[in-house]
Amino acid sequence: MIIAKTITETRKIIAHAHTTGKSIGLVPTMGALHDGHLSLIRACRTQCDYTVVSIFVNPTQFGPNEDCDRYPRTFDADSAACEKLNVDLIFAPDTNEMYPQQNLTWIIPEKLGDHLCGASRPGFFRGVCTVVSKLFHIIQPDVAYFGRKDAQQLAVIRHMVADLNFPVEIRPIDTVREPDGLAMSSRNAYLTPEQRIQASCLYQALTLARDLITAGQKNPDTIIQALKKRIENQPDTKIDYISIVDNDLMHPVSTIDAPVTIALAVHLGPARLIDNIMVDPNSQKP
Ligand code: AMP
Repeated sequence: MIIAKTITETRKIIAHAHTTGKSIGLVPTMGALHDGHLSLIRACRTQCDYTVVSIFVNPTQFGPNEDCDRYPRTFDADSAACEKLNVDLIFAPDTNEMYPQQNLTWIIPEKLGDHLCGASRPGFFRGVCTVVSKLFHIIQPDVAYFGRKDAQQLAVIRHMVADLNFPVEIRPIDTVREPDGLAMSSRNAYLTPEQRIQASCLYQALTLARDLITAGQKNPDTIIQALKKRIENQPDTKIDYISIVDNDLMHPVSTIDAPVTIALAVHLGPARLIDNIMVDPNSQKP
């Protein structure tokens, strides 16, 4: 496994892999790798000839009062995990390498990027789209892997790739969860043991939504109120949003008669956790 910290070195290695006709897969991450990331890497390893994992905590997607500085950085453990999975290349640039000068050129997604996480984190998807497009230009992958855990990010990236004709296929990977249903996240490390126990209410709320839809409930507001109650039962939670949205532009629906995503973001102590599930009301009927 090669660890490359510069764009020049990475381009050389990738150019060589391309000349040997290998299909190149990219798994973009911010590090602090857990089993969720590893399932993306495993998919990439089995489906592509050459696996690249990028590890970069991208400052342009963090707001001024967010957790960029204290975001967990565990490079030694991350590279050991990648090595074990036979990753071919880790691209781990520092901030200067990725942003050597004041960045003047941005990719800003319209319609998809300014609600849900985009509303509470202004500029977040601008930062995500810009860094992902930089990674696509540097690594030129044939396939790139993204988790459904970040459903809005996946939708934004899919639209960006289609709108701007990036020659890359986006493959989504299902959310990996802890035994109690909590979606794995690098930010779970911020939780105290007590908050960690409370955190299972997010997935419980999502499954409650699925059960209500399966039972025929079509009114999103009724479902959202039930979820709110379930989450607010836990003392340290503060709801950022709970929304029932369509699967393309992720805008709130007024009635549930087609597949939807139930998406939520909840502050739990120092952590802001997000999760979602997709539900198809038509395939859930007994
Ligand atoms: P991050 O390092 O948080 O930027 O995540 C890197 C990639 O891993 C993104 O595509 C995430 O959606 C994905 N990911 C994060 N957590 C999970 C999870 N629990 N299950 C599946 N994919 C995940």
